[in-house]
Amino acid sequence: MTPSQAGRVRQVGLVGMVGMVGMMLTTTPAFAATTAIKAGRLIDPSGRVVTNAVIVIDNDRITSIGTSVPSGAEVIDLGRFTIIPGLIDLHTHMTYYWDRTPGTRPLNQPRRPAGVTTVLAAENARRTLETGVTTVRDLGASNEVDYAMRDLIDMGKMVGPRMFVAGQGISAPRAGAPAPDYAQLADARVAAGSDWVKIYGSRGSYQSVDTTQTLTYAEMKAAVDAAHAKHHRVAIHSYGPSGVKDAVRAGADSVEHGIDLDDETIADMVARGTVWVPTIDHNRYYVDAKDEFGFAPDTIPPLQAYIERNLESTKRAFKAGVRIGMGSDAVYTMFGQNTRELRWFVRAGMTPAQALATATTIPAALLGHEEDLGALAPGYFADLVAVDGDPLADIDAVINQVRWVMKGGTVVVDKR
Ligand SMILES: [Zn+2]
Repeated sequence: MTPSQAGRVRQVGLVGMVGMVGMMLTTTPAFAATTAIKAGRLIDPSGRVVTNAVIVIDNDRITSIGTSVPSGAEVIDLGRFTIIPGLIDLHTHMTYYWDRTPGTRPLNQPRRPAGVTTVLAAENARRTLETGVTTVRDLGASNEVDYAMRDLIDMGKMVGPRMFVAGQGISAPRAGAPAPDYAQLADARVAAGSDWVKIYGSRGSYQSVDTTQTLTYAEMKAAVDAAHAKHHRVAIHSYGPSGVKDAVRAGADSVEHGIDLDDETIADMVARGTVWVPTIDHNRYYVDAKDEFGFAPDTIPPLQAYIERNLESTKRAFKAGVRIGMGSDAVYTMFGQNTRELRWFVRAGMTPAQALATATTIPAALLGHEEDLGALAPGYFADLVAVDGDPLADIDAVINQVRWVMKGGTVVVDKR
């Protein structure tokens, strides 16, 4: 199912819900289907600040933004705050859960039944919402636990961000094993229920910053073409520059991670509109969480060196006009830190407004949801975040001062 098909399916579900609400209205007149949010300041789709606006919401959608409260609407007064669109994290691993039991580590935990992991991982989903992230693209999970979370959240049975998921990522076989048919693997992911296809084009994860490419250009292209033929989009992981170059040439919709990007690759990304998700902050997290993970001391300097080179490439790519997306690559105890990537983007030369676009309009378009996610406008999902302070002056307002979050018309975080 493509993201737009997913959207249609959800809309069909919503029509059902609207019908139910309609019936409820006849028996419970006190129920207010219309909500009016009084916003002290809001950031409109053009990036301008509008003061004292009233955002009117019917069920899960914004219906108008004006200055008056419709009669009978339930009013939520957010006059002290700045309202920004619900944020989008383009790279999570929501199903990677650790309960912090002393004496255990996040990696190599005993195997749990998929159903247990699904329930436990709800905590990651909740922590993500608390950062103002109301939509994620989850790029790699085992045992279809990500499908389960996506569907439970859509059904309203689990509280969490809306999820676009990849299921099991596609990677090279172990040394010595025959090369698989990558087109067939991509088809299988789509058939199983993945919204996105995730491909591991290189090594590199956790404390390892090994940049060795593991899939050839031809193998990447076979998988990308197969996914695109079924109207699904593709994200390719590559820690090193050769894998990034081949991923872009192969037609990946987004490329994850990467250092030492050359000018040719950067120009190719600009020409093709490839979104680059550099995930700078996830290595900062590994350095900070080294004791939790039990990483060897000699693995830390390479992580720090990777961060610097990752940031350097982000500066150059941004300057050249590459569309850059916010992806945390959050796992385990990183949930709740999903938006710290934005500070690196400001360091890479973005204004706070440009950094905000990496978590709103740019990812919405990548997901094929430019018409209902990532902006505050009529027709969009009522995904709203109230922050203290001025996010256009200081991006830390987004990172540290989220006070209230609405997702699809439902308040999911309230710390006012
Ligand atoms: Zn990842």
